[in-house]
Amino acid sequence: MEAAVATPATSPWSKTCACCNRTYLAGAWATLELVQTVPVSAVQRHLSVPAPWRVEVRRCACGAKLAVRSSAMGAAGADRNATGSRGRARA
Ligand SMILES: [Zn+2]
Repeated sequence: MEAAVATPATSPWSKTCACCNRTYLAGAWATLELVQTVPVSAVQRHLSVPAPWRVEVRRCACGAKLAVRSSAMGAAGADRNATGSRGRARA
């Protein structure tokens, strides 16, 4: 296929703590203490643009709280309307 393109299409999800610089992959992230889950409706309330995701707040090993958008992890085909500019029509 196209050999010149070195862009990783599916880079693994990860979250880095701003306090201690630990980096959690999706599997490790799921094992952290869940502090709070903010549902879509509550997230949307604070935004003026459509926000179809939940927010998960988990506690880092250092004690800091880390928040991620839940739709950013796990499902590879979740961003159905977020992308579209890069990988178009390669037959
Ligand atoms: Zn940390």
